[in-house]
Amino acid sequence: MVVSSILGFPRMGANRDLKKATEAYWAGKISQDELLAEGKRLRHEHWKIQKDAGIDSIPSNDFAFYDQVLDHIQLFGVVPERYTKYNLSKLDEYFAMGRGLQKPATDSSSAVDVPSLAQEMVKWFDSNYHYVKPTLQDNQTFKLSSNPKPVAEFLEAKEAGIVTRPVILGPVSFLHLGKADRGQSIEPISALDKLLPLYEDLLKQLKEAGAETVQIDEPILVFDLPKAAKEAFKPAYEKLGGSNGPKVVLATYFGDIVHNIDVLDHLKNLYAIHVDLVRNPEQLNTVAGALGPQQVLSAGVVDGRNIWKTNFKNAIEIVEAAVQKLGKDRVIVASSSSLLHTPHTLASEKKLNPEIADWFSFAVEKAKEIAIIAKAVTDGPASVREALEANAKSQQSRASSSITNDKEVKDRQSKVTEEMHNRKSPFPDRIAQQQQRLNLPLFPTTTIGSFPQTKEIRVQRNKFTKNEITAEEYEKFIEKEIQDCVKIQEELDLDVYVHGEPERNDMVQYFGERLNGYAFTTNGWVQSYGSRCVRPPIVVGDIARPAPMTVKESKYAASISKKPMKGMLTGPITCLRWSFPRDDVHQSVQAQQLALALRDEVVDLEKAGVFVIQVDEPALREGLPLRAGKERTDYLKWAVDSFRLSTAGVEDGTQIHSHFCYSEFQDFFYAIAALDADVLSIENSKSDAKLLKVFVDEAYPRHIGPGVYDIHSPRVPSQKEIEDRIAEMLQYLKPEQLWIDPDCGLKTRQWKETKAALINMVNAAKTFREKYSK
Ligand code: GLN
Ligand code: ZN
Repeated sequence: MVVSSILGFPRMGANRDLKKATEAYWAGKISQDELLAEGKRLRHEHWKIQKDAGIDSIPSNDFAFYDQVLDHIQLFGVVPERYTKYNLSKLDEYFAMGRGLQKPATDSSSAVDVPSLAQEMVKWFDSNYHYVKPTLQDNQTFKLSSNPKPVAEFLEAKEAGIVTRPVILGPVSFLHLGKADRGQSIEPISALDKLLPLYEDLLKQLKEAGAETVQIDEPILVFDLPKAAKEAFKPAYEKLGGSNGPKVVLATYFGDIVHNIDVLDHLKNLYAIHVDLVRNPEQLNTVAGALGPQQVLSAGVVDGRNIWKTNFKNAIEIVEAAVQKLGKDRVIVASSSSLLHTPHTLASEKKLNPEIADWFSFAVEKAKEIAIIAKAVTDGPASVREALEANAKSQQSRASSSITNDKEVKDRQSKVTEEMHNRKSPFPDRIAQQQQRLNLPLFPTTTIGSFPQTKEIRVQRNKFTKNEITAEEYEKFIEKEIQDCVKIQEELDLDVYVHGEPERNDMVQYFGERLNGYAFTTNGWVQSYGSRCVRPPIVVGDIARPAPMTVKESKYAASISKKPMKGMLTGPITCLRWSFPRDDVHQSVQAQQLALALRDEVVDLEKAGVFVIQVDEPALREGLPLRAGKERTDYLKWAVDSFRLSTAGVEDGTQIHSHFCYSEFQDFFYAIAALDADVLSIENSKSDAKLLKVFVDEAYPRHIGPGVYDIHSPRVPSQKEIEDRIAEMLQYLKPEQLWIDPDCGLKTRQWKETKAALINMVNAAKTFREKYSK
């Protein structure tokens, strides 16, 4: 029999219940007991959903109040001393590591506010989920917590009649994903010997509690690994795969493990190996061939990272191929990864076009799919005929729909030429023409696009969405906001203005709503970090721009400004990366469609008299494939091409800007340079100015505005501080290259600190202007 399993279930609940509860707890509105009870309720609900769907192997310990890696930090006592001095409860210490220490005042204690106490948070592989980074001391010791969470949650499920498969993050991944704490120099992986006995103890306790199988996640096997990490698998699993403990399913996901296949030689004592066959179906043969004679393959064939209905025919074929090689008893049907990255249930979506809704499957629906695929393979297709037929029909509907086949879009794509990716003239010619038109001073000042999104803006937008005010009324309101914003920039004496983006709800959604080929959910939330959830738009079909998207606002703003107005767009890669992409055409095709739509917008802005246009690409770097090599080079090629295609339609005298929320360009500098943007604005206020050295080393000829202050906090930088920063930048950049700007958009800030900071910024720029004009 082929059994079914899920690697992890989303924690938030059908209505972001977990978010609401944790935030209520942080605000002092509910007690710790109430929060714990809500967590318990959600766990039970999610186990039941999976059980009712017919899943054989249901995960436990996949639940976390903040983050699963943070759970392990506490589980093994990797808590830096700075958290212990506040005498917090375990749960509060946990939240302090995740989000800093913020506690409202109570009768017995005053408020505490130390946001800087938060541990660094990092993207979980190439997903939009963020985990809390473990930080180790040079003399790190470990201690398994009493009543370990994996055991407690296993017993909790068992009591409810469900024997689960506990999920724990493996020791090699846990250490490899960590780093030395501030001021420490330990190589985390060197602590393996000390950590392993705790894992052994934990497995022993799980076995005693009745766990037959555990899932140990070692997702780092999809990376190119340094020698020490790769070699750590042998000693680790010699210990953890022993016959005394529960059977171990070692899980990998988000990539293939073929380049690390020799590691499997040391994992032959484990019960099963899980691989992601959605991302990399071609690894099946190699992995199956490398298994021991009894070893089981867990085949991840239902996508944990996207919202598409599984193509049963394809999935069953893959599972059948595995069964051919290994036999039914040695194959498990599973989700490709944890379902954490998918929304809870499609049942909440009442507003979706039914034609499109029929193509989707969220976590609850995916659970059913996994059970159906397992049954189809175990008992034959006849046993689930109806489900297979319905699925085939839905696949057919999607493949033949006019939404996924826009002939005009395809025609246009077939006519894209190499030339369309190139500006007319090289940069020196362009900048001369731009300078003539824009007449900017040395050290020009600008901002990144958005100005504070006030409560009033949100209120009016909400009213408009709910039809409580008319389109004209809303438009008037937005015009007034733009007027105010322009006036303030005049007063501040900035050099290149922006309209302030008051009309934008979100930098991707706003564009998605104005393009064909996008769909939106009302409740399709996925966890991004902690209690924070995002609701990614979905690319459902061929993308086209039926009408201009931003021209009205930018044109109006330009018409009331005495200085150049910068038009503001979200780039093709960011639109794609922050959406659920299609899985039926390559992402490069989707990026090109987005690029063509944006190209028209850019040209229309130019026609409307907007001669500075910024195309933001903050997501360019995060799309970088996890491993170096062909996949990465290919990605960079089509990503860069799509940016160039979207921007190269303008005249030489129109200035193209781009913005990035980071400044580590070492590993893909040539791609940034290849964008051929006239001006780059980047984050640099929190990073070392030394990172700018790469621009010198590579003789980067174009303009750069490395953010001179951090907009992520309300703190107002002094003029002196900004001047010091500029002086530092001038060690690397030429004066005629340097723009002065904040390090990101200002939408999350209040006006008060925004004005104060910009006054200091403009004055700092003026000081340097004076100095250099002599
Ligand atoms: N133009 C956007 C803004 O100012 C850029 C935001 C971003 O890069 N994250 O808000
Ligand atoms: Zn930014």
